[in-house]
Amino acid sequence: MNLQFEQAQRVKNLPPYLFARIEKLVEEKRAAGVDIISLGIGDPDMPTPGYIIEELQKQAEYRVNHQYPSSVGMLAYRQAVAQWYSNRFGVELDAASEVVSLIGSKEGIAHISFCYLNPGDVVIVPDPGYPVYAGGAILAGAEPYYVPLTAEKGFLPDLSAIPTDVANRAKMMFINYPNNPTGAVAGDEFYREVISFAREYNILICHDAPYSEMAYDGYKPPSFLQFPGAKEVGIEFHSVSKTYNMTGWRIGWAAGHPQVVDALGRLKSNIDSGQFQAIQYAAIQGLTGPQDAVFQMQKVYQERRDILVDALNSMGWQLEKPKATFYVWAPVPAGHTSESFAELVLDKAGVVITPGTGYGNNGAGFFRIALTVERERMVEALERLKKNIGPVKF
Ligand SMILES: *Cc1c(COP(=O)(O)O)cnc(C)c1O
Repeated sequence: MNLQFEQAQRVKNLPPYLFARIEKLVEEKRAAGVDIISLGIGDPDMPTPGYIIEELQKQAEYRVNHQYPSSVGMLAYRQAVAQWYSNRFGVELDAASEVVSLIGSKEGIAHISFCYLNPGDVVIVPDPGYPVYAGGAILAGAEPYYVPLTAEKGFLPDLSAIPTDVANRAKMMFINYPNNPTGAVAGDEFYREVISFAREYNILICHDAPYSEMAYDGYKPPSFLQFPGAKEVGIEFHSVSKTYNMTGWRIGWAAGHPQVVDALGRLKSNIDSGQFQAIQYAAIQGLTGPQDAVFQMQKVYQERRDILVDALNSMGWQLEKPKATFYVWAPVPAGHTSESFAELVLDKAGVVITPGTGYGNNGAGFFRIALTVERERMVEALERLKKNIGPVKF
């Protein structure tokens, strides 16, 4: 008989997995032979560019790469990151002290909480938001304070609405633009406000920016680090996952405030031994090579975005086209919750959309669609929606 082991409180404290019900329904449909089209998962469907794969193949042959890498990343990798920041944003970084490699930015986002949060400490987290911000903080024993992202405020946190006692107790704040799941972008003024808020309350800012290169209509999202004083109050998380279709490769970085970068590196040296050097070399190719593949992908996503938003608007939505990310965030029709609408769409159209509540309580009343499916399948999904869901009212 299996022994019964009491789970640690930190694991018990993790929020329940909210997609379990919809995933079970999808499984049942698939088992019944329904052709399901998933618009649910934000994972690039296009392949990693060939020149990056070739670099991995070449580097995999070298024996020196078969040994333990450094847990903070090869200097050459960190230099490529610094070079990319300089070219793309005009931000100068010291590769040795202001960049640390990560096993995907998710890893660093979860671990930064262990560097700066003690049990009971407060961390300000966007709601809706990427679940790892709160997840890492909860595992570190901290208390997330959920700041709502609302349509009225352009899905930016209203810093002036954060109670003073919360701001005083808060040690860290996560922000994320271009934003998952809302597709919102932030203007320069927002970043300046965040920096002065951080200074006023001594809060470490963690900006998560994996979608900085997934932008449309000529828009170029900024880096948090390009604003005066940013490097003194925080760090930016980034990765090659979305930019170069490398989600499976697991390599990212954190850059900025040198003491914070150092703390994350020291924590990591006790947990992991870095990413396979051949993968670091492949990421260097991505960051320093020709960026045509990125522009090509932007065009593909932009075209899909236009098809999707136009089709939803013809059914009664009134959506603006997101300027960045590969997500469309939309309200559910009148009389529905996020869950009931997602279930209806699955049931009637065989299409998977993500209920907004999976990203926090303030995601209620919304759903997310990812543009990471081929145009043909997306068009088919939209035709099914038109036919089986029909015009909607709000
Ligand atoms: C995809 C994603 C990440 C994680 O990307 P990695 O593959 O771990 O680098 C982090 N934040 C947000 C908001 C994301 O959507």
